[in-house]
Amino acid sequence: MTRWGMVVDLGRCVGCQTCTIACKMENGLPPGTLWRTVLDLESGEFPDVKRQFFPLTCMHCADPPCHDACPTTATKVRADGIVWIDDDICIGCGSCVVACPYQARHLVPTERYYFEGGTPPEWATYNLERVGICTKCHFCYHKFDDAPAGVRPGEDPAYTPACASSCIGDVIRFGDLEDPTSTVARMVAEHQGAARMLEHLDTQPSVYHLNVPRIDPRPPQRQHTWHGLAVANFYAGPTGAGLYLLATLAGWLQGPSAPLIDLAQPLASLAGLRPWDFNPQQWAGLLGPALVAVGLLSVAAEAGRPFRGFNVFRNLGRSWMSRESAFAMVFMALAVLDTLFWQNRAVQALAAVAGMGVALAQGLILSRAKGVPAWNVPLMPLYFITSALAFGAGALLVLVGLHGDALREPAAWAALGVVLALADLMVWQRYLATPPRTDTFRHAIVVLKLPAQRLAIEGLGHALPVLLLGAAALFPGTAPVLLLGAGLALLAGGLLARVALVLKAAFLVDLFDRFGERPAAGSASSAAPPAARAA
Ligand code: SF4
Repeated sequence: MTRWGMVVDLGRCVGCQTCTIACKMENGLPPGTLWRTVLDLESGEFPDVKRQFFPLTCMHCADPPCHDACPTTATKVRADGIVWIDDDICIGCGSCVVACPYQARHLVPTERYYFEGGTPPEWATYNLERVGICTKCHFCYHKFDDAPAGVRPGEDPAYTPACASSCIGDVIRFGDLEDPTSTVARMVAEHQGAARMLEHLDTQPSVYHLNVPRIDPRPPQRQHTWHGLAVANFYAGPTGAGLYLLATLAGWLQGPSAPLIDLAQPLASLAGLRPWDFNPQQWAGLLGPALVAVGLLSVAAEAGRPFRGFNVFRNLGRSWMSRESAFAMVFMALAVLDTLFWQNRAVQALAAVAGMGVALAQGLILSRAKGVPAWNVPLMPLYFITSALAFGAGALLVLVGLHGDALREPAAWAALGVVLALADLMVWQRYLATPPRTDTFRHAIVVLKLPAQRLAIEGLGHALPVLLLGAAALFPGTAPVLLLGAGLALLAGGLLARVALVLKAAFLVDLFDRFGERPAAGSASSAAPPAARAA
């Protein structure tokens, strides 16, 4: 079985960027998009300073996290190990970009040319199909897929990726890692120091490096793939799900509420509805799905190709983003129909489970994003569940506070809010106490522990609501106002916590973390490919 791969001799690279430009020309890449580049790194301290050039590209991992993250099945892995993107399917959601720890994926947001309107050479190679989607290196497979019998890609420049065939220093070698007679397999076998990047993440890259130098840690950089719209989804979705679940449970405990619309009346009666007469449960039955819908629309607005949005359901077997979307659709349909027409507890239970599925799936999307250490934490799904309940309690307390007349048990509502706020705080504290595996993660936690963040997340989002709820239990006369205040504080603190997690603490993994360390003998990873080990 063939496994295409590369061997990069770092001791030879002179940083000329010929490979970068050859790749751009071969693949018609627009401004701002580099499928490969050469990093210019400095290490040491004056006067003992070294400069190192480092060619970087997609690693064509054998276990690529981008593949599982992609909700559309646009990311595919060939039998020969090449990871490629089907331009016709990708929606440009960016989930693969944050999943890839090697920063190898690039969203092409708009049509761009080097000169206004483009030039004839650019038009000749420009691929409009790649606008609005994610793109990456594919080892120039178009150059060797139809190679005549007897030709060995990597040996003949005409059938070799453009970067390798253009390199002036013979730094980049391409070939079949599974063929013990190939140059690349022999180079890996002969060099005891052959190393793969981020070996400990178990992605099993197909790119090996020789003559690995010492590289100093670089200043952490934040991810710039997901912005405020992603925060909106990670906040609104769990809030809507938590609100619906808690309102449903409260409705069950307090007795059935009156149907919003009598089944005997046609939909036309909607015109006669008096929303100010709805009880909190009825409001929650509509607001919960509305919030989840806001989250979905935010994702669609952030995607480069929103009109292909239906593709998001294609990877239910692997992608938590696909599953999040499916849970959201089921939740919204069941919750709205039940609130308007059915008032059936079995349907409500199903809707509540699907809603919490949205929160769980979001936690799993982040916990599997190997490119962002602050998210790639096992506790993340649990945190999304507890925060969904806390944010949902905040929204429900706002409704209950506004609906003062319907307030039957202020102490019970206060107790519910306190328990959920404290449970969320406990999990957040455990997250902050996660033993740091990398400097990048340590840096993220430092940011989350800054006084301003603590004041917002722990003070506004947890301590203040607990105080207000305690006061509401003690002074029932002012309970509506206090419950309203506590709900607003929970919601505001929750939003700031999401901003901190998704934007402020989201530093990219250090590409050179533990680079060059040999994997432990007998571990799942080994620096040498199977063919080289056998040789
Ligand atoms: Fe996917 Fe990144 Fe691995 Fe390339 S380097 S296969 S984009 S995870």
